[in-house]
Amino acid sequence: MKREERLLVKYYRLSLEDEADGESNSIRNQRKLIEDYVEEREDLRELGSLELSDDGYTGTNFNRPGIKRFLDLLKKNQVACLVVKDFSRFTRDYIELGNYAEQIFPFMDVRFISVNDRYDSSFQSSHDGLEIPFKGILNDLYSKDISTKVKAAKRQMIKNGKLCSGSYPFGYRKREQGEINRDGIPYRIDEEAAKVVRLIFHLALQGKKNIEIARVLNEQGCLTPGMAKRKNGSFGYGLKEGERSVWDSTKVLNILRDERYAGTLIIGRYRGKGVGSGKVEEMPEHMWFRKEMGMPAIILREDFERVQSLRPRGKRGAYKKEHHILYRKVRCANCGHFLYYKPSEYGVQYHSFFCKQPHLRPDSKCFRGYIKEREILEALLSMIRVQVQLAETIKAESKRKGKGEERQQAKKRIERMEKEIERKKGLKAQCYSEYKHGELTKEEFLRKKENIQAEIQVCQQEIQIIRESMEVQEDEKELVERYGGYEDDIKLDRDMIERLVEVIWVYDVGRVKIELK
Ligand SMILES: [Zn+2]
Repeated sequence: MKREERLLVKYYRLSLEDEADGESNSIRNQRKLIEDYVEEREDLRELGSLELSDDGYTGTNFNRPGIKRFLDLLKKNQVACLVVKDFSRFTRDYIELGNYAEQIFPFMDVRFISVNDRYDSSFQSSHDGLEIPFKGILNDLYSKDISTKVKAAKRQMIKNGKLCSGSYPFGYRKREQGEINRDGIPYRIDEEAAKVVRLIFHLALQGKKNIEIARVLNEQGCLTPGMAKRKNGSFGYGLKEGERSVWDSTKVLNILRDERYAGTLIIGRYRGKGVGSGKVEEMPEHMWFRKEMGMPAIILREDFERVQSLRPRGKRGAYKKEHHILYRKVRCANCGHFLYYKPSEYGVQYHSFFCKQPHLRPDSKCFRGYIKEREILEALLSMIRVQVQLAETIKAESKRKGKGEERQQAKKRIERMEKEIERKKGLKAQCYSEYKHGELTKEEFLRKKENIQAEIQVCQQEIQIIRESMEVQEDEKELVERYGGYEDDIKLDRDMIERLVEVIWVYDVGRVKIELK
């Protein structure tokens, strides 16, 4: 669609709550306000326009016929401008509002105007953009405890924003500041990594399997995504200085399936799971926004399509299986990677774990062979049993002694000691004054001072001892809280493992180290 055929969309929404407010939000009023606004501006007036409205719908989600129609047009790149009365007409979900105002509208080149918020994206610089969309909707929704919520939401939005503009696929790197950016694309090709991407597609076109491709890449010592991130100055990727990572079949597959290498820019693929959670989820494919030729291509579109047809694509999510009980808990003590899980067709007692590194690199120092899941679970169970017994003992003991009273007494003793120290410091000062007035000789003064000093030290040590024993009690309390509720007959389940186990390191078949939380 040509630019000039894109439409100006006037969107109105009335919810049931609004009706209680009287006329001010009525569709008629919204229409009048927006029409007056558009009429006064030549650049808006000359656009072809379309009215969309939702009457009797809440703004907390996008399940509204009018807005669905709008999103549809948006995806087809048929919207030039969206005008609403205020932000909450468009959405009351402020994270979603941020996503659209900050990412999707700029990406689709859509001008966004909220009349009552005095917001027009074409006059917004990229910096103040964040502040303004918030104002209206937050006043509306979160007049109470506004400060904490705004802060959390902002953090989340910044995070979301970074996911789009800051996370770039392997083969690309971020533009340096000051590098010319006429096309609005934040990436450039990273030649060293792009070579690896081309090699991967080349090998795939020859019919090589993912694991075979991974082996070739490792033999040639090719750059990996982790190493590229580090090279391009992205930290927090978990790869330490000098550490190398290796290719495996999953990494190869991810490259081969990534349409961006053929030049399609995609946004809206991930979104934050909600304020403060820090987690992201992948959106279903029909929610993604694509722009063909939106970024510099590394491989030919036809090569990409050929590779896809060579590898029939399983249904998205079809492979999503139940997590096994030790999911993301078992790591190789040598390389630190999570071990791969190998369920056995011969039954539960044969399910096992292995480290993939020796299969990828012959020189790997990681253990070879398979450790049985059952062995790990048995070791874990006996460790948990010890903790449970300990918790029982502590519980019984504190009942007998009356731990609560003991704590009070300890506190009182500390107070007494502190008073005593103060008194002794006073004595010390008094000695000095006596010496000054000639009532004590220098030797007498020094000896007295030293004695008092020693007494103060004893008191301080005493306090230290009491404090430490109070800390032990704290630890014990925590242990009781964590393990106190279990029966003698413990059955391990996923929740329990999630709650109690930090990590299980496997050194070799039959040698594990369990770190509890
Ligand atoms: Zn390993």
